[in-house]
Amino acid sequence: FPFGRRLPCDIYWHGVSFHDNNIFSGQVNKFPGMMETVRKITLSRAMRTMQDLFPLEYNFYPRSWILPEELPLFVAEVRVLKDSDPSWKPTFIVKPDGGCQGDGIYLIKDPSDARLAGSIPSRPAVVQEYICKPLLVDKLKFDIRLYVLLKSLEPLEIYIAKDGLSRFCTEPYQEPTLKNLHQVFMHLTNYSLNIHSENFVHSDSVNTGSKRTFSSILCRLSSRGADVKKLWSDIISLVIKTIIALTPELKVYYQSDIPAGKPGPTCFQILGFDILLMKNLKPMLLEVNANPSMRIEHEQELSPGVFENVPSPVDEEVKVAVIRDTLRLVDPQKKKRKDAHPGHPARSIIPEASAWAAAPAPRPCPCPTCPTPVLVCRRCASPERVPGSSEALPGGTEAPLPSLCLKQVFPKYAKQFSHLRLVDRVAALFIRFLGVKGTTKLGPTGFRTFIRNCKLSNSSFSMAAVDILYIDITRRWNSMGIDHRESGMCLQAFVEAFFCLAQKKYKSLAPHEQVASLLELCECHLAALDERRPLWGWG
Ligand code: ADP
Repeated sequence: FPFGRRLPCDIYWHGVSFHDNNIFSGQVNKFPGMMETVRKITLSRAMRTMQDLFPLEYNFYPRSWILPEELPLFVAEVRVLKDSDPSWKPTFIVKPDGGCQGDGIYLIKDPSDARLAGSIPSRPAVVQEYICKPLLVDKLKFDIRLYVLLKSLEPLEIYIAKDGLSRFCTEPYQEPTLKNLHQVFMHLTNYSLNIHSENFVHSDSVNTGSKRTFSSILCRLSSRGADVKKLWSDIISLVIKTIIALTPELKVYYQSDIPAGKPGPTCFQILGFDILLMKNLKPMLLEVNANPSMRIEHEQELSPGVFENVPSPVDEEVKVAVIRDTLRLVDPQKKKRKDAHPGHPARSIIPEASAWAAAPAPRPCPCPTCPTPVLVCRRCASPERVPGSSEALPGGTEAPLPSLCLKQVFPKYAKQFSHLRLVDRVAALFIRFLGVKGTTKLGPTGFRTFIRNCKLSNSSFSMAAVDILYIDITRRWNSMGIDHRESGMCLQAFVEAFFCLAQKKYKSLAPHEQVASLLELCECHLAALDERRPLWGWG
């Protein structure tokens, strides 16, 4: 908004986070709290919660520990695992929290090395079992960057791009040994690191070089007889399950920033999923990026020290389609037209999307008073009114659009995953008892009300014991120093307290059954309460 914005927009495209601008209407391309939710430590915690409930369903995320707080646990668990299987010779990867582009990452063979390595030993980090046997192509390790559109949180709507990027290492892979642990070009697939290798190959083709399309890898695997359909289905499951793990936290942020019933925007977000394929083609989640790079150019050194941006066909092929489809899916005109002419197929506001392909980002009209956005069409290199705004496109015709690259996977496959959404329901209880809108932490009174309304206190679990549980768990979570903005019980602490209550009440059941049973009990009591006081009940 170089000249300041006078009129509200339909779509706001923020560079970093939801909070880049104050907005009260339209749609914004970021969810509040997304950056915090996908940080390495927060993601690991969320995945651990799901692994505790559904160990087999969530075995696509490597075993992880949080440093420094879980160092003793890390040491103890590795010792037990080694004792039970002496042939297990693990390697671990230490990744600083909040780091990106491979920054500060190192490999270790023994937990005791975690204390010594790194310049700041107490820098919070995630240490993870290193996947030693990745799938290799041309003897090189590679990972996959897949683009996922979270179109809506409530109801949950997820789209996955049919193609992604494969980013290659630049040194032939060898399983980790003490001698090669430090060779980043062999073990880390980050583009930002490997670009500095003399072996890095920029290619104009999408199926050669150090960055290729994922579809080109699939073609190759398919020609060797691999079950590519099964691989895709595993990847879709991985994405849906990961988002199910993230939604509880996101919903807490959402209600805090966009309270229900008050004017506010709706949100959508493009996420970058980093996935590693194991030798047996099992996809493993490495991390989720809230701000995946959408660059479609790369730097080229013309002469020593002189750089130029040149188009990158692989990035263009994948990323332009993702942005184009995202705009088609959130197109506010489509909704308006649908409402005005029910039954008529909706037409997109982005005709001839390919002509905009490598155009510069949409730029506002240079005139400070003009509210109509203008794009520069690459084909004619002259400014044109955005179709759907007050003036029509010259010629007035709309060319057929390329088919969608973003495929809906949720709610399409919702049935297969609904049993996993237990923590979501725990978060709904948490939000209900937050009471004052705009907070993300539960006070002691809110926790007591939750216990009382759900009738969880009895002769063997007094209200005094409830207070002790609240204080113990809240103090421990707050001492981890995650979020000091507010005092009180955060969602993860509430989830821990809930699991603890469930375990106490339903000892003989499996963990997920314990939680499901307690949820049913709570929801049933609350529904009865709501029926009795419909006018002034909670929520
Ligand atoms: P960053 O955000 O710094 O890129 P990542 O978690 O993506 O951190 O890790 C960087 C790279 O390290 C990945 O692209 C991948 O090549 C490698 N890597 C990360 N975790 C593992 C793991 N558990 N096993 C094997 N390789 C890994």
